[in-house]
Amino acid sequence: MRDDACQAKWLTDEVLMVGETARRFFNQEFVPNIDRWREQGVIDRSLWKAAGDAGLLGCSLPEEVGGAGNKAFMAITLVEQGRAGDAAWGISVHDYVCHYILAFGTDDQKKRWLPRLISGEMVAAIALTEPDAGSDLKSIRTTAVDAGARYVVNGQKTFITNGQTADLICVAVKTDPAAGAKGVSLLMVETDAAPGFRRGRKLHKIGLHAADTSELFFDDMEVPKENLLGGREGEGFRQLMVQLGWERLSIALRCVGLGDYALRHTVQHVTARKAFGGTLFDLQNTQFTLAEAKTDLEAMRFFCFGAVDALLAGKLDPALAASAKLFATDRLNALVDQCLQLHGGYGFMDEYPIARLFGDARAAKIYGGSNEVMKMLVARSLVTD
Ligand SMILES: Cc1cc2nc3c(=O)[nH]c(=O)nc-3n(C[C@H](O)[C@H](O)[C@H](O)COP(=O)(O)OP(=O)(O)OC[C@H]3O[C@@H](n4cnc5c(N)ncnc54)[C@H](O)[C@@H]3O)c2cc1C
Repeated sequence: MRDDACQAKWLTDEVLMVGETARRFFNQEFVPNIDRWREQGVIDRSLWKAAGDAGLLGCSLPEEVGGAGNKAFMAITLVEQGRAGDAAWGISVHDYVCHYILAFGTDDQKKRWLPRLISGEMVAAIALTEPDAGSDLKSIRTTAVDAGARYVVNGQKTFITNGQTADLICVAVKTDPAAGAKGVSLLMVETDAAPGFRRGRKLHKIGLHAADTSELFFDDMEVPKENLLGGREGEGFRQLMVQLGWERLSIALRCVGLGDYALRHTVQHVTARKAFGGTLFDLQNTQFTLAEAKTDLEAMRFFCFGAVDALLAGKLDPALAASAKLFATDRLNALVDQCLQLHGGYGFMDEYPIARLFGDARAAKIYGGSNEVMKMLVARSLVTD
């Protein structure tokens, strides 16, 4: 699959070179370790430092803060992450947090955190979801009460990517519980300087076994006032909305790579497996199924790569980002299901890449805003645009 065939403007020679670097990185660092990471339920901390050294962590940030340039570099990195068969490593979440700080942080906050996030010395997470509030974010119950020089935070979060590893967590809190969405703020929690912070269980999941998706608890947790993102209370909801387009497109881009991975492994299997005097590939059903899967994949790729052009031109509206996430995650899941079927019983065995991907891909229809929420956003745009 040649990315440059779809003629997206952002796929410059420089971006394709970053893609090569990312591909090498994933092949060298991931492929040999992924079984062990799946077993231990978390990716080694040392990977973050290695990614920082390879220039991947800050690659979407501008050069003046130590990054490589722009989001095109991260876009291609996420495609390559998918191509290596991984959806578990929370590099995209880490990247979103960098962008929150870049877009809304005070100068002091940028200086304090961005260099350490770019180098991999610090790992970031974003904690919005609570046991009783996911899609309906304005109903979160975690509170941050003004106590002079610090906030006192009480509440809990769940399903948090990088939950066991992160040392800088962007936590959505209510600074004014009576004010609904306008009472939401984002507090940056440095976990080793926040008495009352506690990590809960690393959650058992049906996929993404290498991801340390976790619960977090805040019991009278103390966070210095200067850690309020942007320094003004009540801005959290707006801050989240501004960044969501990039987050959703990131998920979609990784799906393009994962679809490529699924198809590659399936072609290998069906061309090697003998049946009825030939290979599985010789059967017309196999060829038709693969042709449909490939067509879906191209549609995902052209759509998502076009959306990156829109993003870089400042024209990615929330509905387009929602459509990209909805389309890519739905089509990926359908494609993986078809590819699994072509593997027969082997497709159900955990040691086969397609079986693992079946579990891993499923989560993408839920996280980053569920696909039903994406449909709501797209539908609303039909009457407001
Ligand atoms: C692997 C994984 C990683 C995650 N990582 C993070 C993370 O790093 N940080 C974080 O904060 N969260 C994270 N999440 C949480 C994720 O964002 C939420 O699970 C998601 O937003 C859905 O919220 P919920 O689980 O509370 O489901 P609910 O909001 O209870 O939704 C349940 C069902 O109802 C549907 N529904 C809800 N509202 C509507 C509506 N208005 N109209 C139609 N249907 C609706 C939903 O689509 C869904 O199908 C992660 C989740 C998973 C599975």
